[in-house]
Amino acid sequence: MMNIAIYMRLSKEDEFSHEESNSISMQRLLLQDYVREHFPDAKVYEFADDGYTGTNFERPGIQELLDRVKNFEINCIIVKDFSRFARDYIELGSYLEQIFPFMGVRFISINDKYDSDQYVGNVADIDVNFKNLLYDLYSKDLSVKIKASLRSMKEQGKFVGAEPPFGYAKDPKDRHKFVVAEDEAEIVRSMFAMYADGMSTVEIARIFNEEGIKTPAQIWTEKGIRKFKPKGGVYLWQNTSMTRMLKNRAYVGDLVQGIYECQKIGIDKQVTDQEKWIIKENHHEPIVDRKVFDKVQERLGKRRRPRGKQQRHILVGRLKCGGCGRNLRHNISGHHYYWCSGVNVYQLDGCVKRIEDFYLEEVILFQLQQHIMELGESDRLLQEEKDKAVEAVEVLKQECRAAEKAVENAKKKRMADFEAYALGKKESYDSSTDQLELLRKKYEGLREQLSLAEDKVREYSRLKVHESFPVMKLTPELMDEYIESIEIHPGNDVRVIWK
Ligand SMILES: [Zn+2]
Repeated sequence: MMNIAIYMRLSKEDEFSHEESNSISMQRLLLQDYVREHFPDAKVYEFADDGYTGTNFERPGIQELLDRVKNFEINCIIVKDFSRFARDYIELGSYLEQIFPFMGVRFISINDKYDSDQYVGNVADIDVNFKNLLYDLYSKDLSVKIKASLRSMKEQGKFVGAEPPFGYAKDPKDRHKFVVAEDEAEIVRSMFAMYADGMSTVEIARIFNEEGIKTPAQIWTEKGIRKFKPKGGVYLWQNTSMTRMLKNRAYVGDLVQGIYECQKIGIDKQVTDQEKWIIKENHHEPIVDRKVFDKVQERLGKRRRPRGKQQRHILVGRLKCGGCGRNLRHNISGHHYYWCSGVNVYQLDGCVKRIEDFYLEEVILFQLQQHIMELGESDRLLQEEKDKAVEAVEVLKQECRAAEKAVENAKKKRMADFEAYALGKKESYDSSTDQLELLRKKYEGLREQLSLAEDKVREYSRLKVHESFPVMKLTPELMDEYIESIEIHPGNDVRVIWK
C-alpha cells in the first residue's frame, strides 16, 4: 500500500520572483498529475510550507511530514525539485543517502528525474550534476565523520595506523594496542645504545650491514606484514632511516598520532604543527629507557656540531667477542653491560651473553696495572744492562789508553836501546819485535772490545725506557698507548692484546 506525501514549499524569495510555476498551486497541480499517472491507487497526503526558507527544517509542514515518516505512516515522498525539500545540501544528502533508505521511504523529485527506487545502488545513472553534488556531499560528509572518529580514537590513545613501528606488533587481543616483538626490539635497543654511546648513524649502519643484522623492511617482508623490494636486491641499513627511528617516541612507550594530516581529498599528506599531535604517554611497553632516549635526542639535536669522543663509554669500540669476533654491543638501559648480538640474533654458542661495565673496567684496569708494572720491571733490567755497558766502556777506554801507552813506551825503550848500542854504551841489541807486537795486539784487541761496548750502549739508548708509574684509572690515552684490542671469551675471560 502506497502512502504518498506530496510536499510543496514557497519561500519569500519565490514570491518576489513572480515565477508562477513555483507557486503552491502550480506545485500541487504538477504533483497531483504525477501521482495520478504513476500511482493511481495510492493514498495521498499533502504538506506545504508557505513563506519558509529551504535552508533549514524549521518549517511546520515539513516537521509534520517527518513526524509521519517516523511513525511509518508515509512510505513515499514526492517533490517538484530537491530545493523544495531542502536547500541545505548536507541535510538533503543525509536524508537521501541515509535517513530515507533506513526508514524505507521512497523519494521522488520530478524535475530532477530522481527516484530513489531506481537510483539506489545505481548512482551512475543519476544526472551528472546531481551525481557530482551527491558525491561531494557524500565524501565531504564521510571524510568529516571519519576524521572526527579517528581523532577521537587517537585522543583515547587507540592506535589507528596500519602497522605499529618496527619493534612492536599489534596486540592480537586488541588491534589498537602494541606488544613488543622481541627479535626486532633487540635491534632497536642496540641502535639506541650505540648512538647514545657516541657512534654516528653512519657507523652503526656500517656495523649492522657488516654483521648482517636484518633491516625492518627485510623482517617485515619475511614475516609477511608488508612487502618491500630492496634496492639492488640487497636490504641495507641506511643512516637516514636510522635517524627517523631514533626520533620515534614510540620506543619509550608513547603513542604519537596525527603527525600527518590530509587537508583535502586527493592532496598529499602534510606534516602538522607539533601542537596538533595527539600524544598518549605510556601507551605501551617501552623498548628503550627514557634516559637513553633523552640522551639520543640531545645528541640528535646538536648533531651538526663536531662530536667529541668523550661522550663514549671508554670501552666502546674496543671490545670483541671471543666467540665470533664481532664488536660487542653496549646496553645502557638499566644496568650497563656489553653483549654480543650473535647470542640473540644468530643463536651462536660461545658468544658473550652479558659482561657488566664495572666488572670489565676493574679487570682491564688491573691487567693494565700489571702490564705497566711488568714493562717497568723489564725496563729496570734494561737500564741495569745499559749502566753496565756504559761502565764497561769506561773500563775498556782506560785499558786502551794504558795499552796504547805500553806500546809507546816499548817503542821508546827500543829506540833508546838501539842508540845506546850504536854509541857503544851497550854490548848487544835485541832486534826482535816480538814484545812490541804482543803489546800492539793487546791494544788492538781492547780497541775492538771498546767499539763493541760502545755499540751496545748506543743500542740501549735507542730503546724506549718506560717509567714505572701507578695507574689509578683507565683513560682513553692509556688505552690507546698500550692496548691493541680486548677479547671476551666464554666464562667472561677478558684477554687484552697489548701493543
Ligand atoms: Zn659473538
